[in-house]
Order: sequence, then structure tokens, then C-alpha cells
Amino acid sequence: MHEQYDIVILGAGINGVSIARALSLAGKRVLILERREIAAGASSHSSRLIHGGLRYLENYEFTLVQEALHDQKELLDRYPDLVKLCPFYLPIYQNTSRPVWMIRIGLWLYGLLAGHGHTPSKIPMAEFSSLFPALRTEGLKAVFHYYDGKTDDKALTHRIAEEAVSVGTTIREHTLPTAITFGKEKIKIQTNDTHHIETPVLINATGAWVDEVNTAFALPSSFTIEKLSGIHLVFNKVLIPEPLILQATDGRVFFMIPEQGRTLIGTTERSEKGNVDQIRIDPEDIAYLLMQSNAYLINPLKEEDITDVFIGTRPIIKSTKDPTHMSREYKLDLHTIGKNKLLHIYGGKLTTSPSLARNVAKIFC
Ligand SMILES: Cc1cc2nc3c(=O)[nH]c(=O)nc-3n(C[C@H](O)[C@H](O)[C@H](O)COP(=O)(O)OP(=O)(O)OC[C@H]3O[C@@H](n4cnc5c(N)ncnc54)[C@H](O)[C@@H]3O)c2cc1C
Repeated sequence: MHEQYDIVILGAGINGVSIARALSLAGKRVLILERREIAAGASSHSSRLIHGGLRYLENYEFTLVQEALHDQKELLDRYPDLVKLCPFYLPIYQNTSRPVWMIRIGLWLYGLLAGHGHTPSKIPMAEFSSLFPALRTEGLKAVFHYYDGKTDDKALTHRIAEEAVSVGTTIREHTLPTAITFGKEKIKIQTNDTHHIETPVLINATGAWVDEVNTAFALPSSFTIEKLSGIHLVFNKVLIPEPLILQATDGRVFFMIPEQGRTLIGTTERSEKGNVDQIRIDPEDIAYLLMQSNAYLINPLKEEDITDVFIGTRPIIKSTKDPTHMSREYKLDLHTIGKNKLLHIYGGKLTTSPSLARNVAKIFC
């Protein structure tokens, strides 16, 4: 006897559970197969920002920023206990390659697109140094202040999963497909716990594993991804009172984020060639973040101060650009096979999960 579902989703990251929630709300019978636990992948290893991505304005990715800020508003409204608007500080030092006027215009545009009514502003340097005594002030040219969203990525993904379940989604953790075959009418899925499932729609929302799933089951696809790992360092002390955005010596930006008595510093970008499960923290990335942070801190951080390091992998659609400039936009890759539909989710951010889910629901509802 085969279990019947309208839609089967592989992967219970933020995208998988958001899609399931949207489809179940529209009355579909949805099953998620998650090979580990809910939020086991990038959705619990991110920088935890619900943001439009100020730096993407530099790449002229206005649509991405606007859509993400629209999604930010939706997440702020839907989960006020989990997604909060916070003040972010952007100090401009002499080594900053971006001119002050450009940052001012970028922030003004960002505030306008966000539409939350908090206007970015320049703050007096004396105010900054009294708020951030851990930071050096030599070479400081200006300090800007703007608002952006912060969350707990794992808790947010779990909350959306709970909502999906409450409207009818079934989630099976520690379950993965062992065979996928396309029949005339239905897709047949066999799982490691010997379930036999039939569905006319399969959605591959396995994040950084998307290509590996496609290869394992010979699924057709239009894109491939660049696996871009990123690490965060965790310190069991509060270095700063509010989030800071800083420029690294290579022109990238990185964050220092206070959270519950700790400080999070990240992130990095490393193109990975092997399988996602074999990706490991590279000591060079730890040294990089320490060096970049210490360029701004009065009392340098040492490796012994690090209490945790975590790594996540972003699934970025491959292009000829360097990793920092590859678009963070998502793509929905739909294939029709007989009467069946196969949809791959490529890329995306925590922040854009609401619009991604809405766009997927438009295809199937
Ligand atoms: C370092 C870093 C920092 C980031 N910072 C931010 C940020 O500040 N703000 C933001 O908006 N975004 C950020 N992102 C991006 C964001 O984390 C991801 O875009 C998002 O979490 C992707 O969600 P997902 O559901 O597509 O993938 P994932 O969360 O990776 O979920 C995929 C799931 O599929 C499962 N899976 C894999 N293979 C199978 C299989 N064969 N069968 C069943 N299940 C399978 C995995 O176990 C996993 O749970 C960051 C990402 C990284 C790596």
C-alpha cells in the first residue's frame, strides 16, 4: 500500500518548512522528508540576520534587496517574539574603501526600501566611543546608525515547522529517499524506513545538498550550485552592546553581533569542492576573522578566547563572478515529467523564505 500525498518536500530547512506551511494552508496534503532534524543545515548555522542585505545594493541587486526587505517586514509582523528590529552601527575608518557619501546614499536608499520608519543617521564619534569602548577610534572618519532585523534562525525554522504541522503538514525526521522513480501518473518514493510514497509533485529543498540529491537520483536540473561555506566565531563575553558592521582588509564586510551574553563574529566565504557532509572548518578562516576583528579592537582577541566555531554552507547559483559577488537570489527550477512535476529550490536566504514559499505556492495552488 502506497501512502498518497499531493506534494512531497525533501529537506526541513527554513525553505522546506515555509513552502510546506504555504501549501498546507492552501489545502494540500504535504509530507516533508528530512534526513536529519528540522533546521539541521544552513538554517541553524547562519548570521541570524533578517535583512535586505545592505551590501547587495553595491552589486545593483535592487530587486533582491527590495524583496528581502518586504519579507523582513512580513517576518517582523508574524514573529515579533523571534524577529526583532535592532540598531546596527557602521563605523567608517580611513581604510574603508567605500566613500562616506556612497555609504550615506546606500543607507538612505536601504531605509527608504525598508519602510519601517527608522531613518539611518550619522552619529557623533564621541557617542560611538562611549557606546563601544572596546573599539579603537584612531582613523575613525564617521559612524552611521541604521536598523535591521535579527533572529534565532533555528527557533524561527522550528516555529514555521510547527505552524506547517498545525495546518496539516507531516514531517518525518531521520528519513530520506532511497529510490525515486517517475511513473506515468505519480512519482514513487521509497524511504530508508521502508515507506512507499506516491505523489504527483516532488520539491527538492535540500539547500546545499541539492546537486548531490540530483546526482544520486539522476534528477533533471537547470542549474548547479557553488557551495560557499561560512564560519562564525563565538566568544563567551559581550564585546559590544549592539551589532556592528565592519570592513575587512579584502573589502568584504563582516559582523560582530552581541547575543545573550555572547558575541558572534562572522562570516567567511570559502568555495567548497567536496560533498557537503565532508566540509570542515578551515583554521585559515578562524585566523582571518581573528585578524580582521583585532584590527578594530583595543584588546585583541586570542584563539583561546573562542568558545565555539560553527560552519554552514550556502547554496549559491554558480556564475563566473567571485563568491562575494555571486547573487544571493533564489531560483525555482520547475520540470514537468509526464504528469508529474519536479521543483528544485536553488539559493535563497532565511530572510526571503516568505516570498519563496509564496512563489512556490503560486505554481501548485
Ligand atoms: C554562514 C552563513 C550565514 C548566513 N547568514 C544569513 C543571514 O544572516 N540572513 C539570511 O537571511 N540568510 C543567511 N544565510 C543563508 C541561509 O542560512 C540559507 O539560505 C537558508 O538557511 C537555506 O535554507 P534551506 O532550507 O534552503 O537549506 P537548509 O537549511 O540547509 O536545509 C536543507 C535541509 O535538507 C536536508 N537534506 C539534505 N539532503 C537530504 C535528503 N537527501 N533527504 C532529505 N533531506 C535532506 C538537510 O538535512 C537540511 O536540513 C547564511 C548562510 C550561511 C551558510
